[in-house]
Amino acid sequence: MVAHAEAAYPRECCGAILGTEKDGVRHGVVAWQMRNAFEGAQEDTYELDPAEQLAVEKEARARGLSIIGIFHSHPDCDAYFSKRDLASSCPWYSFVVLSIKKGVFDHANSFLPNFDQTEAPREELEF
Ligand SMILES: [Zn+2]
Repeated sequence: MVAHAEAAYPRECCGAILGTEKDGVRHGVVAWQMRNAFEGAQEDTYELDPAEQLAVEKEARARGLSIIGIFHSHPDCDAYFSKRDLASSCPWYSFVVLSIKKGVFDHANSFLPNFDQTEAPREELEF
């Protein structure tokens, strides 16, 4: 995730986290880079390509994994969950945000949106 995020700088990167879930603990195995499908300036926005997302889901299943989360980067910005992030989120994934400052990884946080997508509390994230 860090390598993808640094390479995409100063644009936002995005991708899927393939892994497993057991007893409420999600374990990421593969960080799968995806295309930022947003058609405008990508310095502060990302959009997943739905067709690509389906393909990644298939790929995950073929490896005995599932998509447990989505990651994206915040170039020169802290790793918070923005209003837009919340609006385009969904409650069944963990959302990891990576802060990239001047092209270098700074910190990351993970958020778990509630079912109404009105808030996304932080969850524990271990590297
Ligand atoms: Zn964001």
